[in-house]
Amino acid sequence: MLRDAASPIRVRQAVVRVYASELDVLVDEMHRHRNVETGGDLFGLWSHGDVPTVFLASRPGEAAVRQRLSFQQDVQSHRATEQAVWQTFGVQCIGMWHSHHSIGLEVLSRGDLGRTMRYARRSNRSRFVDLLGFHRDHWHVRPFVYRDAGLGRTRATRLEVLPGISPLRAALDGSIASLKGPPVGPPLRLTVLPSEPQSPLLAPKEGKGDIDPASLKPLSGRGRGPWRAVHAVEQVIASVVPESLREQLQLDVVDDSTLALRLTKGQGRTLIAMFSFDGTLTLGAWQVVGASPVIGRPQPDDVSSSLQQAIAALESP
Ligand SMILES: [Zn+2]
Repeated sequence: MLRDAASPIRVRQAVVRVYASELDVLVDEMHRHRNVETGGDLFGLWSHGDVPTVFLASRPGEAAVRQRLSFQQDVQSHRATEQAVWQTFGVQCIGMWHSHHSIGLEVLSRGDLGRTMRYARRSNRSRFVDLLGFHRDHWHVRPFVYRDAGLGRTRATRLEVLPGISPLRAALDGSIASLKGPPVGPPLRLTVLPSEPQSPLLAPKEGKGDIDPASLKPLSGRGRGPWRAVHAVEQVIASVVPESLREQLQLDVVDDSTLALRLTKGQGRTLIAMFSFDGTLTLGAWQVVGASPVIGRPQPDDVSSSLQQAIAALESP
């Protein structure tokens, strides 16, 4: 019964088109800095069918910070380049690319999705493209188109490579110095992979040594089945769980229709709540474990107020 309601879910794959010359820039830049994260901006246009085409990929600006587990673009350079390509070619920044080199994280991290969300909200742009590079025997690139960049939710996405040199790169005459960069070296092997949908709550962490290889497993082992259930729980979380608590929140997929939420608050108190989804979302059970444990009595048909009670129980000493 549950399965019938939740599936089949047809997820239309999003597409990113990118000129081969721009992938060459990406791979060259990643290979020059193969032990740290590096990246840049993507400039291009969106089609009628909401398909982005990347005409130009930049390298990092001079003040960009490349570290083993994080990359920060040079904001001044980003702004100056976008202004220049807008005035010269009428294209805008449609996303960014960065490298996870050999850290073993082949999807976007929670921090990456959070960065896109902040950018989308600040700039009032709900469309965004991420290209993620990584090294596994050789270089790979994986594309991500956002369903709603402000929510940090990506779609299943594949990459289409347009052959040859981008007409905009061919027309660069040195007037946009930040897009010139060093000449691209000899061609390197590159594999282009599709991506599965991602959301900020389920994404693994990256940076400051907090990559937990165990946290990667649920992502790779999961199909598309639980996606609508995840979406339903995320909506409740967004309306009920205060921002200050979300950093401690973990959502685990038990099976296609069951999700476990785990929320830890100081003094070793943890809320565990079990949700099930059969087209509508139900909060089946919750309890607070640790000091002064509480077992909840959820009202199955009122998920929001049940979760509110559970959080109040977690927060009360
Ligand atoms: Zn990243």
